[in-house]
Amino acid sequence: MLQPKRPIGLANANHRMLRKISCTVVLLLAGVALAPQGVALAQPASNTATFDLAQHPTNHADSLWVVVNKKRPLIPLKYAPVTSKPKFALPSTNNPYGRQLAKPAALAIVILANAMRAEGAGDLVLNSGYRSFGEQTYVHNRQVQRFGLEAGEALAARPGYSEHQIGLAADVSALGQGCVIQFCFGGTVGGKWLRENSWRFGFIVRYPKGKTPITGYDYEPWHLRYVGTALSRQMRKDGVTVLETFFGLPAAPAYRH
Ligand SMILES: [Zn+2]
Repeated sequence: MLQPKRPIGLANANHRMLRKISCTVVLLLAGVALAPQGVALAQPASNTATFDLAQHPTNHADSLWVVVNKKRPLIPLKYAPVTSKPKFALPSTNNPYGRQLAKPAALAIVILANAMRAEGAGDLVLNSGYRSFGEQTYVHNRQVQRFGLEAGEALAARPGYSEHQIGLAADVSALGQGCVIQFCFGGTVGGKWLRENSWRFGFIVRYPKGKTPITGYDYEPWHLRYVGTALSRQMRKDGVTVLETFFGLPAAPAYRH
């Protein structure tokens, strides 16, 4: 798994140690605790009458537009997509851990990586991609056993609730630019380029800064979600950064209990 040298914004040594586990597994207690409850968004935020919000369902695990969060588990919970290794130009650099993604994301991330390199933003590194229900179960159980339910779940998403399980999420960094799976990645050349350009290739930065009360996740500048260019372009056009807001879905600051 990932071993960033110096996690930022975490309160104590235990958290620093645990930050070594990979991203969507990691939720910050502070963000969850401060999140207001019951924030419901009744109307979709897309303001373009011609955009068809029903092109792909948001509640099917195999849909390009599925919205999975702490209030929207995958159905079925053990959903497993067909995945493959992206065919990167520089496999040992771009995919040193041999990660896999669902097919549309696997194709698109290669184009994204090529453009990132060509435009001088660095060599993309795919740190984490698809994670199975079983892998997520292992991580979740380990953290809950070690730290108890509340603290453990602040660090590890429940199996069936992770975007990585649909194969459309990628935790990326840029070779040699540091801040791997850290907030400061957003300030690197690669992180800035991804924030400004991922939409061109069908990706969004799924957990933007300041949206924790809606997404339930702290800022994760490294976590990209593939949604396809039709949606990523429309979100860009509308100035909407969060899937829940775009589709008018309820905020998901915490799990149902
Ligand atoms: Zn992630």
